[in-house]
Amino acid sequence: MRNIVAGNWKSNKSISEAREWMLEMGKAMVNMPQDVKVMIAPPAPYLSELAGGKRNGILIASQNVSSFSEGAYTGEFTAEMLVSCGVDFALVGHSERRADFGETDEMVAKKVRRCLDSNLGVVLCCGENLFSRDEGNQESVIKAQLMSALEGVGLEEMTGVVVAYEPIWAIGTGRTASAQQAAEMHFYIRSFLSERFSGDVAAETSILYGGSCKPSNAKELFSSPDVDGGLIGGASLESSVFQKIIEFDSSL
Ligand code: PEP
Repeated sequence: MRNIVAGNWKSNKSISEAREWMLEMGKAMVNMPQDVKVMIAPPAPYLSELAGGKRNGILIASQNVSSFSEGAYTGEFTAEMLVSCGVDFALVGHSERRADFGETDEMVAKKVRRCLDSNLGVVLCCGENLFSRDEGNQESVIKAQLMSALEGVGLEEMTGVVVAYEPIWAIGTGRTASAQQAAEMHFYIRSFLSERFSGDVAAETSILYGGSCKPSNAKELFSSPDVDGGLIGGASLESSVFQKIIEFDSSL
């Protein structure tokens, strides 16, 4: 399935390239399957303009958010600020933030809390590294990450949470999880949500796959009933390529 296809530009694009992408994608939105929500996470300096401009139904996500509310935190931007700019979601716990910016499970949990308290949707990223995968510990890693990030989150609050399973060894590496590996982990995450919250929460929470997803593998990766769409890095940079993922068009 693909209920949500989200793009993450990371630290790429100038403002004019970002505007151009929004224009192209906006025009293409009329031809996109109507049951798919399209989301893009541009660099932070562009959020206000893109979220406040003509969106054509495209959801806007921040790639980051502060774990604090307002105050003396130079360089940080809060969930409330993002909401006031019209931003819909924030990515929280992306593996690049965990690895390169020292984001701990504790900080991730605080960010989730800040977002939910501000009515900002959360795309909560989790994923195991290659060592854990090779050791067969992927489920316990994901369980620990989700337990921590969702500590204190109530049943009703889960309507504001999307989970993204992103095996670290597949991010930006060109190496994807097989459709079976993705299906197994998504099934595991849904079972975890059912146990931790309820069957209804598990059924209603979107679980996205991320990691070197592209037009040639999207349909297969998204074929499992537990895969509700994707979080796409590199292949979201060109709007024409991103569109093909949304349309399940593997021709390139
Ligand atoms: C990501 O950064 O979330 C991601 C999935 O990147 P890529 O698609 O480039 O592997």
